[in-house]
Amino acid sequence: MGSLCNKTYIERPQINRRSAKRHTSILSIKSMYNSGKVLGTGTFGIVRVGWPKSNPHHKVAIKSIDKGLVKNFEVLRTEVEILVGLDHPNIIRLYESYEDDRYFHIVMELCEGGELWDSLLNKGHYKEKDAAELMIKILRAVNHLHKINICHRDLKPENFMFDSKDHDAELKLIDFGLSQKFGSNSKSMTSIVGTPYYVAPEVLKGSYGFMCDMWSVGVIMFMLLCGDHPFVGKDKEELYSHILQGSYEFKSVHWRGVSSQAKDLIRKMLALEPKNRITAEEALCHPWFGFTETNEIHVSPGIIASLKHFKLSSSFQKEVLAYFVNELNHDQIKDLKEAFNSLDTHKNGFITLSDFITVIANSEEHPKTREIEALFWNLDYNKDGRINYSEFLAATLESKHIINEEKLWSAFRHFDPNNTGKITAISLKSALRRAGKVNVDADELIREVDYDKDGGVNFEEFRKIVQG
Ligand code: AMP
Repeated sequence: MGSLCNKTYIERPQINRRSAKRHTSILSIKSMYNSGKVLGTGTFGIVRVGWPKSNPHHKVAIKSIDKGLVKNFEVLRTEVEILVGLDHPNIIRLYESYEDDRYFHIVMELCEGGELWDSLLNKGHYKEKDAAELMIKILRAVNHLHKINICHRDLKPENFMFDSKDHDAELKLIDFGLSQKFGSNSKSMTSIVGTPYYVAPEVLKGSYGFMCDMWSVGVIMFMLLCGDHPFVGKDKEELYSHILQGSYEFKSVHWRGVSSQAKDLIRKMLALEPKNRITAEEALCHPWFGFTETNEIHVSPGIIASLKHFKLSSSFQKEVLAYFVNELNHDQIKDLKEAFNSLDTHKNGFITLSDFITVIANSEEHPKTREIEALFWNLDYNKDGRINYSEFLAATLESKHIINEEKLWSAFRHFDPNNTGKITAISLKSALRRAGKVNVDADELIREVDYDKDGGVNFEEFRKIVQG
């Protein structure tokens, strides 16, 4: 088997050299970031570690895609558009994007713990309990994607990374280069894309829907438990024929001690017919995960207190808090993420009102349902009936005491990169565009907080806005 079967495959690229500039800014990445060592290379470019000049303590990953290698700029635009809309503890976070003559740059959260693939190679295979913990994270990420109508189309251990080298590192899904939004038609996709070892049979047949991701998750789970691929072949044709027949076995010695529940879940994910395949939501309720469930609710009184005190005073403040959320590091985010996961009782990446009532009503202070509802609607700033991960983190920032003078200045410099002493509608628009927020009205945001009508926000005004 050649290494080709591990590489992402894209069929039928169309030539479309329209610029992907819609989300990007005229500022050059070099004026905003310093970059360092190479972290990895992908199909179209290179990923490096970087530091914003406004805050050299905050390490990021910068993926630079060589425009000369990309035949279809639509692919780039889709990747950025999709990343902008993603907001989940197990999915990589996009910070900004830039474009110059040669490259398209995506600035994102840095994962310092390496790929799941390398970890699997080192270990050979995972113990069942450890594999189950990883699978919960993988399934939570996939469930979130599917709930917001996104199919990843290239799930494999190389595309999951650990955010740190710590034993409790978080797992993050990366590389949305092949992802696709899907509509109500469950079989809307036809291009044969993906990575041969992980590709679902219906993808090879050329008519498929989002459930192709669940097949790939089944392949990943198989590999985590035994270290081998379920489907192999001496060449691609033989591999594809095995996939199309769904022929695999639990035959290596590693399977001897593995529970029948684990095998049952794999069988349900590797069901040949997508309509018979288990969904991410159903898989998360599979009895195999029973032994990892602690049923403990990790929402500390400190977090609940900051949720109660939180009051968003303007949309401008919301955008600045989003900047601070991006700056939270692995240690600062740990308990907040656990609290979010506890509140996300449906494991789909959103806190609904019913989730919120269930958990908060059981907190030490036993608040009344009416009070909890009021708290919920205060946090759900865009009133869509669900609190997303960033909204939750923004509301709990206070509990971390991270917004000190230094952080305030680096945030101010981020929104005023030319050092004019004032954040104007133009500089704010540029920052929002870089973050992919093309539909946010920067003029309105500034108008809302420009009390002295001088056309901008200076540092002292900025401090007051951030501190509410
Ligand atoms: P990609 O082109 O997205 O597949 O990325 C190529 C390689 O760069 C990956 O296989 C990773 O090893 C590395 N990489 C990608 N994204 C990140 C990240 N956010 N943090 C650290 N390394 C990354």
